[in-house]
Amino acid sequence: MAGIYIHIPFCKQACHYCDFHFSTSLKNKDSFIIALKKEIELQKDYLIKTDTPSLNKKNDEIINTIYFGGGTPSLLSQSDLMTIFHELNKYYNISPSAEITLEANPDDLTSKKIKELFDTPVNRLSIGIQSFYDEDLKLMNRAHNSQEALRSVKASQDKGFENITIDLIYSIPSLTNEKWIHNLHTAFNLEVKHISSYCLTVEPKTALEYLVKTGKIKNVEEEKSVEHFEIMLSEMRKNNFIQYEISNFCKENFYSKHNSNYWLKENYIGFGPSAHSYNGSSRQFNISNNILYIQSLENKKLPFEQEILTASQLYNEYVLTSIRTMWGTDLNYIETCFGLDYFLYCMNEAKKFIASGEIIQKENKLFLTDKGKLFADKIAAALFHINYKKTSVNK
Ligand code: SF4
Repeated sequence: MAGIYIHIPFCKQACHYCDFHFSTSLKNKDSFIIALKKEIELQKDYLIKTDTPSLNKKNDEIINTIYFGGGTPSLLSQSDLMTIFHELNKYYNISPSAEITLEANPDDLTSKKIKELFDTPVNRLSIGIQSFYDEDLKLMNRAHNSQEALRSVKASQDKGFENITIDLIYSIPSLTNEKWIHNLHTAFNLEVKHISSYCLTVEPKTALEYLVKTGKIKNVEEEKSVEHFEIMLSEMRKNNFIQYEISNFCKENFYSKHNSNYWLKENYIGFGPSAHSYNGSSRQFNISNNILYIQSLENKKLPFEQEILTASQLYNEYVLTSIRTMWGTDLNYIETCFGLDYFLYCMNEAKKFIASGEIIQKENKLFLTDKGKLFADKIAAALFHINYKKTSVNK
């Protein structure tokens, strides 16, 4: 099983906190679709396990997830989407039951747009709500308002989309504890099946960083972020949402297959500017520039850098992702895949976190406790193997 990620590098306007790759000019959208088609064709052998690349045969991995992320994939027309699906079907074995997710912004989800999306193979919507309060949306420079947030979810459900996830952000300067509880309850009342919830972070070179530095926006105290995180865990539990990854919660059977594949180290291929790919031994990073991406593919040249992953890197990636999930870090897996030295190393480094109550060991697996979840990245970094060697090959 493998996944496909497609990065759509366009947005209507720039959210203040965003450091993803996108352009607010849509003038290259048509050239981008042509380049994307070429990339899908040229990369057709990336996931093939056999030693001999195929001439005509389709990629031999079964694709069980496709994810349109961005950027703002809901800016694509129905015909753009059908063109992309047509191209994917030419070169990849897509399972008839594949989970096919499209990220959408509430302001794009008019009744007409929802109907058009429903008539494509897309069967899961990821709606970027972020908050149900106008002042929070304004502060973050989101393109939608609170009414559009509510309407977009209800209208998508009315049309027949059953599998809907929404994004919510906490630790926004204008978000009080009461408002945060209200945002969570609004999501529960809407009966969405999956919620991804992130802490607002001030990323370098974003408008938010500038606004904080110049004192126009006051950064949130760590204490308040911790309160929001604890409120989130408590409210999610009360409402029977399973926290299967630190930032991801769902009702039974509504796990994101696509993200779970990442965390469980399944292979995936990424198309579009800034997209990444992983096939078990190497990682590829596409160029984060729309014009250069298009020009490269016009010349039939794939615009990526490749990194051959060392055992240390593979181990570090496994620890970083697995420790954040409810499936935990499997020590047997570490011993089998990386050897006894890595197993002993991991156990030894984990000891202090077990003693401090931030990690719990059950059978042969390590899990973060609620206390540990607050410091997940720091704990994962402490478990990293030190022999990190990077081999970079420019294509
Ligand atoms: S819509 Fe999404 S990708 Fe675009 S600027 Fe906002 S957060 Fe970033």
